[in-house]
Amino acid sequence: MANIVAIVGRPNVGKSTLFNRLIESRKAIMDDVSGVTRDRHYGYAEWTGKFFTVIDTGGYVVGSEDIFEGAIREQVEIAIEEASVVLFMVDLNTGLTDLDKDFASVMRRSKKPVLVVANKADTHEKAMAMHEFYALGLGEIYPVSSQNGSGTGDLLDEVVKHFPDEGIENPEEGIPRFAVLGRPNVGKSSFVNMLLGKDRTIVTDIAGTTRDSIHTHYNAFGKEFILIDTAGIRRKAKVTDNIEFYSVMRSIQALEEADVCIIMLDATRGIESQDVNIVALAAKNKKGMVLMVNKWDLIEKDTQTAKKFTEAIVDKLKPLDYLPIIFTSVTEKQRIFKAIEKAVEVHENRRRKIPTSALNDAMLKEIDNYPPPAIKGKFVKIKYVTQLPIYTPTFAFFCNLPQYIQPAYERYLENKLREHFSFEGVPITVVFRKK
Ligand code: GDP
Ligand code: GDP
Repeated sequence: MANIVAIVGRPNVGKSTLFNRLIESRKAIMDDVSGVTRDRHYGYAEWTGKFFTVIDTGGYVVGSEDIFEGAIREQVEIAIEEASVVLFMVDLNTGLTDLDKDFASVMRRSKKPVLVVANKADTHEKAMAMHEFYALGLGEIYPVSSQNGSGTGDLLDEVVKHFPDEGIENPEEGIPRFAVLGRPNVGKSSFVNMLLGKDRTIVTDIAGTTRDSIHTHYNAFGKEFILIDTAGIRRKAKVTDNIEFYSVMRSIQALEEADVCIIMLDATRGIESQDVNIVALAAKNKKGMVLMVNKWDLIEKDTQTAKKFTEAIVDKLKPLDYLPIIFTSVTEKQRIFKAIEKAVEVHENRRRKIPTSALNDAMLKEIDNYPPPAIKGKFVKIKYVTQLPIYTPTFAFFCNLPQYIQPAYERYLENKLREHFSFEGVPITVVFRKK
């Protein structure tokens, strides 16, 4: 089950301020991808070791000041259905408004936890004004100041209580789970339908861990895998503004449930900021990735075309330069097998365990050739390296002064690990431990 926290509420209550605060706290340890847009509306957050995705719904539908209908109502309904926890934000400076009451009338029907967040509680006196919001009939009120951060810790303590303790359980351990992601119209349904074609055998349809997400067990091209379907996006959202919002919600759920994300790009449009955001989210979730540049049949090609495309993509995704890129045409059935084969290979890379001896043979030599530079007269000595027994490739380097390792050196080690061992398409994590 994906942990998604949606922030809803009328315009100007401070949703995006809280959103930025929640994802900012992670910034220091996030490898920022150059092409990620500043105005993105979903991000990855962490509180007391629990990870979740936050969505600022205000980014998708800009509501009129006081009319609660159409787009906004639908958006709230989608948020309630798709999120794990809904933060309903109100504003202590303006007090209770009719629009707040309209939101609340929909929230009260929610089976999901809804936490009322009274924002702009910058001082203790201001926080006292929260009492009038008990009239909304939604229980406890959480006073916060998104601006100075007060109250947000208590709020997050409550939020994480609603997440399941365990990660995603995989009913068919070992069989790779793929999510097909991409912008509307890129060819996702065509791709999935084509896999449903005559060379496949569906073994079972398993209801997903998330409502409505269908896990289909395939045996196609001699490969066994489970496809997490995000279809039905258009069916659910009637208002056009909400289609993207809904599709993002579903994509994040599928992404979190998957081992490998097959991220489809449209060759006629190149790589777009939304594509970069999905790649960045997959990377932060340590998922395997394959980029599938679809509609390749529509491109006029010469010998340089694929190379130029690849360069443009790599440039946008810097520093994530390890993703396989496959040029496909779903309608012409070109390289579809290749894409599936690649995804299976990436899954194997993600499961790979390197024996400690092989790891030390390769890496200690590289470290000898280029030792960590001295910092303030201190020399860092790396003694050995081992892969940690956790789900995604993570390598611990044991050394005397782990705190003196610089990011540039971390990247050097990551690059060398990639040179010696096959981790194409897989985010790897490097940590330093004192020894
Ligand atoms: P949104 O439309 O709900 O996303 O609201 P914004 O995050 O854009 O905030 C609207 C306004 O409220 C901005 O001027 C913010 O600076 C201000 N604001 C947000 N949080 C706080 C807060 O905790 N205290 C105060 N005093 N102002 C805030
Ligand atoms: P989705 O919104 O991502 O599920 O996209 P669809 O599968 O509905 O495809 C959108 C449109 O693109 C449809 O008209 C497809 O026939 C077309 N399409 C999909 N793949 C290709 C392709 O490889 N080449 C061309 N020329 N058209 C494609």
